[in-house]
This record gives sequence, structure tokens and C-alpha cells, in this order.
Amino acid sequence: MDKFVYIGLGSNIGDRFTYIKMAISDIRQKLKGEILAISSVYETSPVGVDNQPYFLNCVCLVKTKLDLNQVLKKLLVIEKKHGRNRKGVMDARTLDLDILLCDEFTLNNPDLVVPHPRIAERAFVLTPLVEINPTLKHPSWKMNVTEMLECLSTSDTVEKVGVLTLAKLN
Ligand code: ADP
Ligand code: MG
Repeated sequence: MDKFVYIGLGSNIGDRFTYIKMAISDIRQKLKGEILAISSVYETSPVGVDNQPYFLNCVCLVKTKLDLNQVLKKLLVIEKKHGRNRKGVMDARTLDLDILLCDEFTLNNPDLVVPHPRIAERAFVLTPLVEINPTLKHPSWKMNVTEMLECLSTSDTVEKVGVLTLAKLN
């Protein structure tokens, strides 16, 4: 059965735009999926950490037949391939790939929580989600992503800096 997975991408070291671009290309190949949408790329202030470079963030929507544990495994392999160093949870990273949401699935495993638990507090995730699907909502949520973003009072910077099209990926 096809699943529709929203994946959040982030990078705050090195050639951030290239890491994001390569990651989307790898996601398409390794998830044997079809990329249905890619948000703009946003430059965002780091959240919850001091003294870190700004991130580039974006979100893509992938259609895949893999189950979510397989998707997570592939994402971790892609992070590693692009030099992600997992010394500390909040360290700067070349590439961070998160499963944000997948249809009406709810998972609460030790190594995989879906929907991602911090979506409502992150403008850098909500802004690209709203861009690609403004009425997106999980059954356990009271609000859709547009309403969640409106409710979020934050001074975090989220500034559109570029676009990635499927044609630019190869
Ligand atoms: P964060 O992305 O919150 O900054 P990390 O990327 O360092 O944290 O943490 C990655 C770990 O989080 C993974 O090894 C994975 O097992 C776990 N994890 C739990 N839920 C998810 C999810 N929805 N997407 C990606 N990783 C998740
Ligand atoms: Mg992560």
C-alpha cells in the first residue's frame, strides 16, 4: 500500500543547500519513492541551542511502499553518507532528516515517534508544511498546520531563500 510521508530536512554546516539537494535525490532513490512535493528552502535561526550557525530547512512529500521503520533506517543511512556525526543530540549537523507525518499513522516506539512530537512548536517545520499542504492534519491534532502556525508566537526567523525543483535534483 502506498504511504505518503512528510520528511523534514535540515542542515547547518558546510554547503547546506547542496546537502539538502543531495538528500532529496537520495530519498527518491533509497525509498524507491516518488517525490510529490518539495517546499521552498528556508533559512532559519537555530531553535533550542545557542551559538550555532543558521539552518537551511525544507520539507518534502514522498510516496513510498516501505514501512515507517524501513523509512527511518534509510534516512539514517542517508544522514551518515553525508557526514552526519552523532556525537551529541543537539550538535550542529550537515544533515538532519526527520519523519514528520505519515497519513493517519501513530507510532510511539523508543526509536521512532510519529507524528514528530515537536512539530507544533517549530516554525521552521510548520512554515514549509503549510506551503505544500495548508490543510494538513493528523487525527490526533486539534488544528491543521496553518492554524498551528498562526497559534505559534515565536521570534524564530524563517526566511525563504531558494527553491528546489525536481529537475534540479539530478
Ligand atoms: P533531532 O532530529 O530531534 O534533533 P536527532 O536527529 O539527533 O534528533 O535524533 C535522531 C533519533 O531520533 C533517531 O536515531 C531516531 O531513532 C529518533 N527518532 C524518533 N522519532 C523520529 C522521527 N519521527 N524521525 C526521525 N528520527 C526519529
Ligand atoms: Mg533528526
